[in-house]
Amino acid sequence: MRYSDELLDEIRSRNDIVDVVSQYVSLKRKGRNFFGLCPFHNEKSPSFSVSPDKQIFHCFGCGKGGNVFHFLMNIENMNFYEAVKVLADRAAIQLPSNASAEDEKRARLKDEVYKVNEAAAKFYHQTLYQPTSKLAQEYVKKRKLGNNTLKTFLIGYAPSNNELYEHLKAEGFSYEALLASNLIGKSENGRFYDKFRNRLMIPIQDVRGKIIAFGGRVLDDSKPKYINSPEDIVYSKGRNLFGLNVARKNSTGLLKRILVVEGYMDAISLYQRGITNVVASLGTALTDNQGRLLRRNAEQVILGYDADGAGQAAIIRGMDILKNLGVDIRVLQISGAKDPDEYVVKYGADKFRKCMDDAISVVEYKVKVLKRQLDLNNTSDKVKFLNEIAKTLAGVENSMEREVYIDKIAQTYEISREAIAAEVNKLLRRAPEPERRKADVVEIVDNVAQVRKKIDPNILKREQMLIYLLINYSSESFEKISKVVDPKYIYDERNKKIIETIFENYSKGLNADNVLNWFAEEKDINYISEILANDYEITDLTKAIEDVEKIYIKEAKVSRRDEIVEKLKSTTIAADEKAALEKELNDIIIELVKMK
Ligand SMILES: [Zn+2]
Repeated sequence: MRYSDELLDEIRSRNDIVDVVSQYVSLKRKGRNFFGLCPFHNEKSPSFSVSPDKQIFHCFGCGKGGNVFHFLMNIENMNFYEAVKVLADRAAIQLPSNASAEDEKRARLKDEVYKVNEAAAKFYHQTLYQPTSKLAQEYVKKRKLGNNTLKTFLIGYAPSNNELYEHLKAEGFSYEALLASNLIGKSENGRFYDKFRNRLMIPIQDVRGKIIAFGGRVLDDSKPKYINSPEDIVYSKGRNLFGLNVARKNSTGLLKRILVVEGYMDAISLYQRGITNVVASLGTALTDNQGRLLRRNAEQVILGYDADGAGQAAIIRGMDILKNLGVDIRVLQISGAKDPDEYVVKYGADKFRKCMDDAISVVEYKVKVLKRQLDLNNTSDKVKFLNEIAKTLAGVENSMEREVYIDKIAQTYEISREAIAAEVNKLLRRAPEPERRKADVVEIVDNVAQVRKKIDPNILKREQMLIYLLINYSSESFEKISKVVDPKYIYDERNKKIIETIFENYSKGLNADNVLNWFAEEKDINYISEILANDYEITDLTKAIEDVEKIYIKEAKVSRRDEIVEKLKSTTIAADEKAALEKELNDIIIELVKMK
């Protein structure tokens, strides 16, 4: 199946790349382009560029690039057709229904499961207010959850029989969707039943507010305390943060800070007490995906996990993930309560906000943990302490910041400032930071470099310029260039493939705007985006095209000259042919001289 270029063009032009990228990356304008932190590799200063003129993105760090379709494919892990579908929907463009029957079936089922989830959430929520839901009402009262909080999170109650199943069946949902939602099960004897019973129900929503799963908490002491929906057609763990849709509702753009807690009940309880910029990582330790979600939505991330061993381990893992993403990370410190929820209930929101203000940095946190594990009166422990601290400090990129920490630690722990500094410097010398970063980049651009290996960089540059002109100024350049440029004079294999494809498609009347859609291989797309992202600063287009024409006219002549010289070496050549060749050679030589 293939969508027409006109349709792709329409979808692309109605989804401005800056708008689409902005949903994931915070962009700042710099000249004609926008820059931000690359969502595809770890970096701390922005090398990810988006060009509104060319409607492409390109990362100068890792080399990823493409148009709005490729961006979505990469960031959402979609295939081309899924990206087309999402962008078409976004622009309210109807797609012709020639998708494969299988894909279409899956898409329909997905849609229906979302609807099942929504209907179920409403049903549970309304049930909470029924006189038969006394237990649940008492529980929310005990947790002091007000009506506003119950409504904001659509909190509900799953009754004890098969009421949900009966309700959903009456609403007309298919059995397939009911089972796929994982809210309804089917017993061996073919009976349908509610999977959640006698539980307080918490719908889990994605950032768009769609209900993707449910968490159910028991109302007494029975086990398990929590049951959550398994992964299914609409829910994949580790890609969402509970409460992000609510936290975002109260703000536009980047949040100043966001607090991450372990469980959704903690997040809900904090919200009830006025801490609204809070999300829960849904049980699992923070994933890379969640880290990116956080970075897209907040300037500072405060980790507020429980004080127990598991919580502290989660902090360490979360710190590593977020640090690699270049996020400003803090760690919440509370005393007098075992978790943020208990703290806010005991001491109130103002005191809690103060804790958020005083949340400590990664370095301070690591020092604190070390101090707890080691006995600083013991000499060997003190050496260990010094070594570990040096490791942490060597990881601090900003040298001023590092100095401040060294001073602070020297003072607090009565270790000589020089001793710490010497240890840190030793580590820094061993692994110079820029080199480590360079290694990241080299790996990615390596295959590009290999192709280019033997070709004169000047030739490579002019071939890239040719591609640049052909794509950016197709109406001015194509006719002239295609007349004089024979692909056999394109020396780089990849450039040749690209130019041939462009020639072929332009001849068919296809539009330059869709160039990136003609290539299936990611490395080609990245490469073309890189060429387009370069600024060749063309001030005089006519002259630029003429220069290219000249080069290739000359190239053709030189090549013909060499050919004739070869032919003339032959002994079997007829006299009249020889004369003709000699004349031609003579003319070419004169022309070549003139061209210089
Ligand atoms: Zn990148």
